[in-house]
Amino acid sequence: MNAPQAPVRPLRGTRRAGDAAFAARLRREVDGEVLFDAASRGRYSTDASIYQIEPIGVVVPRSEEAARTALAVAAEAGVPILPRGAGTSQCGQTVGEALVIDNAKHLHALLELDVDAGTAVVQPGLVLDRLNAELRRHRLWYPVDVSTSAQATLGGMAGNNSCGSRSIAYGNMVHNVLAIDAVTTGGERWRFGPIPQTLDARAGPPGYIELLGRLRALYEREKDEIAARFPKVLRRVAGYNLDHLGPPHANAAHLLVGSEGTLAYFERLHLRLSTIPAQRVLGVAHFPRFYGAMDSAQHIVKLGPSAVELVDRTMIELARANAAFRGTVDAFIKGEPDAILLVEFSGDDRAEQTAKLRQLGELMGELGLPGSVVEVTDSRQQKAIWEVRKAGLNIMMSMKASRCPSSRIVPCRSSTLPSTPSG
Ligand SMILES: Cc1cc2nc3c(=O)[nH]c(=O)nc-3n(C[C@H](O)[C@H](O)[C@H](O)COP(=O)(O)OP(=O)(O)OC[C@H]3O[C@@H](n4cnc5c(N)ncnc54)[C@H](O)[C@@H]3O)c2cc1C
Repeated sequence: MNAPQAPVRPLRGTRRAGDAAFAARLRREVDGEVLFDAASRGRYSTDASIYQIEPIGVVVPRSEEAARTALAVAAEAGVPILPRGAGTSQCGQTVGEALVIDNAKHLHALLELDVDAGTAVVQPGLVLDRLNAELRRHRLWYPVDVSTSAQATLGGMAGNNSCGSRSIAYGNMVHNVLAIDAVTTGGERWRFGPIPQTLDARAGPPGYIELLGRLRALYEREKDEIAARFPKVLRRVAGYNLDHLGPPHANAAHLLVGSEGTLAYFERLHLRLSTIPAQRVLGVAHFPRFYGAMDSAQHIVKLGPSAVELVDRTMIELARANAAFRGTVDAFIKGEPDAILLVEFSGDDRAEQTAKLRQLGELMGELGLPGSVVEVTDSRQQKAIWEVRKAGLNIMMSMKASRCPSSRIVPCRSSTLPSTPSG
């Protein structure tokens, strides 16, 4: 499932010829829940987007083997499959007329952790916050800190090539996935990873080596076009990562990252972890005009921040109107700016970080906005401010229906994030 489609109302009760036999076979062969009833298909017909399409059915596998069996049965029946994590995608990635494979309920183990090497192997349904809770005691974290970290799964994050507020320092998923053990619809189960110089038997089984050869030939054929046309921006998450098939990355797993479930099913993800920085400081830079905030970012990034995130006036006003966030907003946002930038510096040296914060103040002065930075050095206060930023969509959803961006399509939902139906 790739490009957004026109919003479609779920067709309740619609059945395809052969679905009953397909469901019966899945029930016989798959160790897991097999859900083909109207209520379940209705629940899985949405994600965090405006799109609604009823799936053919849903499998909630209890084991990796069960997921593989479901894939094999679907492939034999000619039914497309649609892997699903938390379903927090905003462009309809997890809705479609397919067999949904829901990983969130059972396939969420942290399988391996190598603290010295800073690597981990996880199942696709593991939620980011849970992984980071495990890693914290080792002073490690997985740094692709999406706003939906309490729901988003590592499989879904890889599927979307997600990026977090600190991507300026750590990159997106494609920069933090080392390898993926994936299953194709042909039933092959391969470890997609670095593409070696020499494609001999050490590179993997014959079918995988053949695939690597084809990927390498594809890259060689298209590399000039890729160099000429792929946008050179930090957060490029659209399309297949063909540029990562060649140097300096040359990694077949990176082609799967961002493929939105269209190329293979991810069974295990091999992740690169990062050390939690000992020190973090935050500057809340105030701008009287939205344009000024956008325009200043190019200068601010030269100071080497670990995050630069925008919060506009609409969100500030809505957060002020919300009792849960009012205290934080009033404490750190002065007056009525059109926008603020949250600028974070992090590292191991406190003096270095506070010096950067001072430089931010000086820079804002040079940009014509002296005294416009509120310095936040207390870690709890920083956390509270990031929570407001993270709660962005929920805060937006508290808009009155007539002003809600999605009100012309569906009624505004309640102010809670969607979650995986089985989760
Ligand atoms: C309020 C809000 C804030 C958000 N903030 C951010 C943000 O800060 N940064 C960001 O990048 N995104 C953000 N998103 C989008 C979304 O939350 C992220 O992309 C998230 O990482 C998706 O995780 P998920 O588990 O919900 O994936 P899902 O939505 O379940 O799936 C995502 C894609 O991955 C595929 N997939 C899932 N599992 C597998 C598997 N095992 N094998 C193969 N493919 C698989 C799915 O088919 C789908 O195409 C936000 C969304 C909302 C609603």
